[in-house]
Amino acid sequence: MEITWKKYSRKQKKEVFAFAETYRKFISDCKTERECVIEGIRIAEEHGFKNIEDCIRDGVKLHPGDKVYLNNKGKDLALFIIGKKPLSEGMNILGAHIDSPRIDWKQHPFYEDHDIALADTHYYGGIKAYQWVTLPLALHGVVCRKDGTTVNIVIGEKASDPVVGISDLLIHLSREQLQKTASKVIEGEDLNVTLGSIPLEKAEKEAVKANILKLLKKKYDIEEDDFISAEIEVVPAGPARHYGLDESMIMGYGQDDRVCAFTSLMALMEIENPEKTVSCMLVDKEEVGSIGSTGMQSYFYENIVAELVDLVEGYNYLTFRRCLANSKMLSSDVSAAYDPNYPSVNELKNTAFFGYGIVINKYVGSGGKSGSNDANPEFIAEIRKIWDEAEVSWQTAELGRVNRGGGGTIAYIMAKYNMQVIDSGVAVQNMHAPWEVVSKADVFEAKNAYVAFCKNI
Ligand code: MN
Ligand code: MN
Repeated sequence: MEITWKKYSRKQKKEVFAFAETYRKFISDCKTERECVIEGIRIAEEHGFKNIEDCIRDGVKLHPGDKVYLNNKGKDLALFIIGKKPLSEGMNILGAHIDSPRIDWKQHPFYEDHDIALADTHYYGGIKAYQWVTLPLALHGVVCRKDGTTVNIVIGEKASDPVVGISDLLIHLSREQLQKTASKVIEGEDLNVTLGSIPLEKAEKEAVKANILKLLKKKYDIEEDDFISAEIEVVPAGPARHYGLDESMIMGYGQDDRVCAFTSLMALMEIENPEKTVSCMLVDKEEVGSIGSTGMQSYFYENIVAELVDLVEGYNYLTFRRCLANSKMLSSDVSAAYDPNYPSVNELKNTAFFGYGIVINKYVGSGGKSGSNDANPEFIAEIRKIWDEAEVSWQTAELGRVNRGGGGTIAYIMAKYNMQVIDSGVAVQNMHAPWEVVSKADVFEAKNAYVAFCKNI
């Protein structure tokens, strides 16, 4: 196995960097699941995809080559390109998640303490809280008013915008704090976001908080109570960056799993008139167990496949069940990249390295593979064949040494339909930290691997 960089011609290297640049812009702009869905739809419509709900409403039948998408509650995007073969032969599916660990505002966020206004939070997904303090943070989200209107909020991304942040104790007074274990050194309830420090004139109590609320009212026409029906996500502020003096990597927020979401989406955009129907889904809530109406455990995908069967061939229960059971899926999710600062957590024969291409994880889970999908070797053999034929660089890995920890993906949920599923994605350093790192070569290889899967499996 050779490092991928060595195989590229000068022209190919340019392609790798050009593709990485479109990716860098995507993750710089799309820092919430909703923002990913909006941008995903924009890209899809540019490539001729139509809203499937319009087809359902107008009774428009679908034919081979047609492209449709479903927007589920603004938080999931499922896309399909109808193939020439009958749906009962199954689909080739790419599935990635577009939610990432972050810090959410509570429903009653605002308070004031000695003339500093703050927002109270409840973190989302698996974070090391100590990584999220003393950083410039941005606010992204929606506020839903009682009249049914929704306001989109983004504060902290433009160079002229203010940022917010979470404070940490000065080193001079940290003797006691530094005795605590890392999981306690910053407590979850202490992740309070500083919002301001100027009191509103003539306000009698909580004047600084009142001033912040006045600013929000002026800019967005929203009241304090409107934040009860809001989702405000606190995320690292600013764009993703080229990483390393050779610019071979990208440092950015939310690359778990937007690196696989973007490469899966862009792979689908390269497909025209496929043999089998191909699909890409970008889903919410993976980081908290795939729950809720927008998580993979929701029936939204199954429901839309039933609609698809109806629009393509006329609804038939057996066709629908066969379509799901005969499908093949890459659960496009990230893997852990080897970190030279922490080599002890890996078993090096089964570890993912930067620059060696897309990673296959036969299983994830924890302990004795608990909670994992554990893909079938027959399926892995098929994938090896198509990727070798397409000259894609790929590697196989475990998340880490046995019994060192673990993780999960959406693979096991889709496997319930009896479809073949395996985890495969891009290796990430600093996973779940505010700034994660990937290799540009791996991003490029992942996209090509997904294209080969859609066309040839
Ligand atoms: Mn993930
Ligand atoms: Mn994750």
